[in-house]
Amino acid sequence: MNYIYPEYEVVRNHSRCITCRACENQCANNVHSYVECENRMESNDDACVNCHRCVTICPTRALKIAKTDHVFRENANWTGKTINEIYKQAQSGGVLLSSMGNPENYPVYFDKILINASQVTNPSIDPLREPMETRVFLGSKSHDIVRDAAGKIVTETTPQLDLSIPVMFSAMSYGSISYNAHESLAKAAQKLGIYYNTGEGGLHEDFYKYSKNTIVQVASGRFGVHKDYLTAAAAIEIKMGQGAKPGIGGHLPGTKIIGDVSRTRMIPEGSDAISPAPHHDIYSIEDLRQLVFSLKEATDYKKPVIVKIAAVHNVTAIASGVVRSGADMIAIDGFRGGTGAAPTKIRDNVGIPIELALASVDKRLRDEGIRDKVSLIVGGSIRSSSDIVKAIALGADCVYIGSAALIAMGCHLCRNCQSGKCNWGIATQMPELVKRLNPAIAYQRLVNLISAWRHEIKEMMGGMGINSIESLKGNRLMLRGVGLNEKELSILGIYHAGE
Ligand code: SF4
Ligand code: SF4
Repeated sequence: MNYIYPEYEVVRNHSRCITCRACENQCANNVHSYVECENRMESNDDACVNCHRCVTICPTRALKIAKTDHVFRENANWTGKTINEIYKQAQSGGVLLSSMGNPENYPVYFDKILINASQVTNPSIDPLREPMETRVFLGSKSHDIVRDAAGKIVTETTPQLDLSIPVMFSAMSYGSISYNAHESLAKAAQKLGIYYNTGEGGLHEDFYKYSKNTIVQVASGRFGVHKDYLTAAAAIEIKMGQGAKPGIGGHLPGTKIIGDVSRTRMIPEGSDAISPAPHHDIYSIEDLRQLVFSLKEATDYKKPVIVKIAAVHNVTAIASGVVRSGADMIAIDGFRGGTGAAPTKIRDNVGIPIELALASVDKRLRDEGIRDKVSLIVGGSIRSSSDIVKAIALGADCVYIGSAALIAMGCHLCRNCQSGKCNWGIATQMPELVKRLNPAIAYQRLVNLISAWRHEIKEMMGGMGINSIESLKGNRLMLRGVGLNEKELSILGIYHAGE
């Protein structure tokens, strides 16, 4: 007996339905079927994940998906969601799995921060008429004084990433997302003058041509890591943690390890790709330093190294240690960061908000006099140009976007990537689904999104009387909190509105 009532209902307007069966063809979850004897469509609501594919494709707008109004008896403690989760686990005996970012109702601090604008004095700048610099360089800004053979002082600059705008596409592996999605991200990064990130799945041979805009990842499973992979990249990222699942490893099921995915990861077809929770050679900052310098050594000290960590309770101390490992950048991933698959309870209950992590790490590194040794990249639900402006004013050098990039490509956030049956062709390896994502269109949509954000960022900076990202960075006076308590304001390092 199945105790779980469907979460969504497929509502079909039969007077509009022309029984074209497009919905049946498009739903990989087999929700729709044609009843020949009655010449009508019917639905299996149980299987619907509310991805909107059929709704969008239906030529007569005959469909909508509604949240079921079937309820349990009211109980503030035992909510319907909790009861259904228990039913599921009592039935399966398994861990609850989810994907994308934490959807729970925790405070979103970006929504409680407001941006300043100039009035009368310190006039605003019109970005249409005056230059506005959004270009940034990422990497260590501190340099040791180096002398040449004649004893003359020469300044050594560590390798830097050069970005036209402080936004990068965050790590999403080939395997968790499709070939076409990967290609779209790579091409868009190249066009925009920014970077995309391979994630832990290796770099498909077809994408070496985008290597100048590629960050390659070295994660605990070391899948697809080899010399050419490292040397091809513009930068190397060591993944120590991920916001969606801090403290645990990754698992890409064997069903997704097929063909090119298996070759690129350098593991046999059908075998599960299990990344261990820790790197088995890293148990201290000294160990991390060894890996940082091994990667630098392997690439002739020409590639900056990023260390990615999840935003957790003691993130400031961890970041301080990471600086001492010799990393050129730290990527901090907040607890709303997305994933292709994670245990639901980890995703929804572990970690801390990126806004608090960023502000406290920036302060700690400044207090220790080591802020210039690294660039800070932050991710974990950056949703808009205003989130970016706020993140930079809180101290970030750059942001990573993942979910926003997937949404730009067509993701409808049904949060069912782990099934591998993404009806939009993004988080799937099923050939018939992959081909639904047209890389030329998805690429253009990504370029459009970032170009639109660039305009908005320039407008916001101009409004503040600021003409470069560099002047905005860490400029917390440009921010005010609303509805935040003293502790929150103190961690964020901002005044309350009205002060
Ligand atoms: S796509 Fe729309 S019109 Fe076609 S069968 Fe489905 S509901 Fe009917
Ligand atoms: S899973 Fe998606 S395509 Fe299938 S019925 Fe639900 S909304 Fe439509």
